[in-house]
Amino acid sequence: MPSNSPSTSITAIFREASQDARDLVSRLVARKSESLDWVDDLRQLQFSYLDKSSQKRDRECRAGCSGCCLSAQVDVTGIEAIAVRDYLRMCVDPSTLAKIQSRLERVTQRRIDQMRGMARQLPLACSMLGEDGRCMVYPVRPVICSGVFSTSRDACLDAEQTAKAGDFSSTIPLDNDAIQATGGISGTLQRILVEHKLDGNLYEFNSAVLAVLAEKNALNRFLAGEDLFRDAICTDAHSPPRKLAVRKPNFLKKQAVRRA
Ligand code: SF4
Ligand code: SF4
Repeated sequence: MPSNSPSTSITAIFREASQDARDLVSRLVARKSESLDWVDDLRQLQFSYLDKSSQKRDRECRAGCSGCCLSAQVDVTGIEAIAVRDYLRMCVDPSTLAKIQSRLERVTQRRIDQMRGMARQLPLACSMLGEDGRCMVYPVRPVICSGVFSTSRDACLDAEQTAKAGDFSSTIPLDNDAIQATGGISGTLQRILVEHKLDGNLYEFNSAVLAVLAEKNALNRFLAGEDLFRDAICTDAHSPPRKLAVRKPNFLKKQAVRRA
C-alpha cells in the first residue's frame, strides 16, 4: 500500500468510480448510516473496480507482506478514522486496545516532532500493524490501504531500505487501474462530505484514530458537524473546519455596492 494518491493522469476508470461513489456516498449521508456500513459499502464498490483491473494478475502484494505499512504515511477522512475507532472498540480486548492507544500516541507525537524538524525523518510503522505482519483492522482498513498494489515486490524491498518519513512510493510500479478507482472513490468521499457541510479534509491516519478513540457517539457527532479532528494532523486542508472560507476582497464588495 505504497502511495496516497493517483500518480498518473486521470482515466475513464477514475471518472466512472467517482460517479458511482457520488451516488453511494450521497445515499450514506442521507441515511446517516453506521460507520461500518459506510466502510462495507465503499469497499464493495472499490472491489468491483479492483476486480476488473487490467493489471490484477501483475500484483505482488501478499498477506503478511508489510513494507508499506512499516513505511508509508496513510491519509484518511474522518469517516474512515471513525470506522476504525468503532471496530477497535467493538472487536479488540481492553489490554490490546490500551497497547494500540499508546502506539497511536507515540506515532502521532513522533510525526509532529518530524514536522517540526525535531526528530529524524525516518519512516514510522502504522499503529495497526500486528506482530505477525498483518493489519489488525483489516476489515475496516482505510480506502487507500485496500486499493493500492505494487507490481514489483523487489521495488518495495528496495524502497524499504531508503524510505524517508511518509515517502515510500516514488520508485514503486503500481496497479494503475486500482489506484485510479481508489483515487476516484476517495476524492468523491471527500467532496460529498464537503458538499454536505461536513469535514471532508484528510488527516494522518494514526492521529485521526487517536482523536476519536475515546469519544462517545463519534459518528453521530461528526455527521452533526462537530469538529472532532481539531487535534489530529491535517495533511490536506481543503474545507472547513480546518480552512476558513476565503473572505471576499474589499474591492469586490465595493463594486457590488456600486452596481446595486
Ligand atoms: S508488495 Fe509492496 S505494496 Fe504490496 S504488500 Fe508488499 S510491501 Fe506492500
Ligand atoms: S491500516 Fe492496516 S493496511 Fe493500512 S497501513 Fe495500517 S497496518 Fe497497513
